[in-house]
Amino acid sequence: MQTNFTAEQLSDPHVATSEKILRKCVHCGFCTATCPTYVTLGNELDSPRGRIYLIKDMLENGRPADAEVVTHIDRCLSCLACTTTCPSGVDYMHLVDHARMHIEETYRRPFWNRLTRNLLAAVLPHPGRFRLALKAANLGRPFAGLLKRFKPLEPFGAMLDLAPRSLPKASDSAKPGTHPATGPRRGRVAILSGCAQPVLKPEINEATIRLLTRLGVEVVAPAGEVCCGSLVHHMGREEQALEAARRNVDVWLGEVEKGGLDAIIVTASGCGTTIKDYGFMLRLDPAYAEKAARVSALAKDVTEYLATLDLPQQEARGLTVAYHSACSMQHGQKITMLPKTLLKKAGFAVRDPAEGHLCCGSAGTYNILQPEISGKLKARKVRNIEATKPDLIATGNIGCITQIATGTAIPILHTVELLDWAYGGEKPVALTALTMKMPA
Ligand code: SF4
Ligand code: SF4
Repeated sequence: MQTNFTAEQLSDPHVATSEKILRKCVHCGFCTATCPTYVTLGNELDSPRGRIYLIKDMLENGRPADAEVVTHIDRCLSCLACTTTCPSGVDYMHLVDHARMHIEETYRRPFWNRLTRNLLAAVLPHPGRFRLALKAANLGRPFAGLLKRFKPLEPFGAMLDLAPRSLPKASDSAKPGTHPATGPRRGRVAILSGCAQPVLKPEINEATIRLLTRLGVEVVAPAGEVCCGSLVHHMGREEQALEAARRNVDVWLGEVEKGGLDAIIVTASGCGTTIKDYGFMLRLDPAYAEKAARVSALAKDVTEYLATLDLPQQEARGLTVAYHSACSMQHGQKITMLPKTLLKKAGFAVRDPAEGHLCCGSAGTYNILQPEISGKLKARKVRNIEATKPDLIATGNIGCITQIATGTAIPILHTVELLDWAYGGEKPVALTALTMKMPA
């Protein structure tokens, strides 16, 4: 694609990066076929190609964002299906990240939208506040229907729908500390505690710690770690995201100095995609560029690390698992086969639901901010999953677990919970009803 940026515009490193990305797009439109919003809405401006044109036009003309651009960029899930499909290697992720920053800097959102986003950015990255908010949601639940009738208040209704009715107790796995390896130590890793996940489903990191320590790996939950910054990053609040990234870089490299780290284990693929991008996000910060790149290289999805430990083949378990590949896993991190291979090795029969490339509609805060499109994508995803007639569903991202669980009665677990169970750990509570089908 031809671009017409001035030399002065190109002196801004963000514009220079975006220009390189834009030049790679050849308008072929292959990406439209796999874009969930285009597939759902049928509007070219809600396709990757349409959004690329809108962003190019806005940046080239040095214009502040307007309501039209914001509408179509806000509808983008950042699922990155387009980057998997694009034959020209267009780096849509960094382009839309830049567009979101530009929107945040140049556009004043309507009052209710501003309030909702401020609230999400102030609450979700902080587990203590998030826990309190979820408890308060129980009081607000009777008003969910009413809130959803007024468009500007719809996100509050969506939040109440998504909030679980009861919460697990706070887990020790989220507290800083060291979990020693059982037997001879064969590795040492840090684990990302995360922000929303330890409140909603502490079982995930508990299972990870149990499994890894049993396999001879020491697991450290370092003190001082904060939310990975993904949530605010996707809202275009770049300084907030970079602050979180710098803090985590310091914490993890501190652990490297203390005892060495083979990996930083991430059990939420949304967070993994962002941490693997810290090197890019902090490339313009001379004090952090190199350190952030080292952290990104150390970040591993838990399944990537487990694949290096050579787990033995287990006997068939008589359970069929529909594997839902989170967008951040398959498109963001390009991890497609590993989780399924591990599940098969662990004795599960694995099914691939149709249209596996399409997002479930969770996408960070998307299911709160865009409940209508999100609801349609969830229904489509659940239909495809249920068509495989699975006993259970496995995935590697807490956002997808929360989203899909509100659309089906089939139990949904994190892949690592199943692996922990298969290799000597506790049976996940969510599987109690399946007891009769299982060998002891
Ligand atoms: S990131 Fe997803 S929703 Fe956004 S343009 Fe690409 S395919 Fe479409
Ligand atoms: S597939 Fe790639 S090159 Fe083709 S229109 Fe989409 S982004 Fe551009």
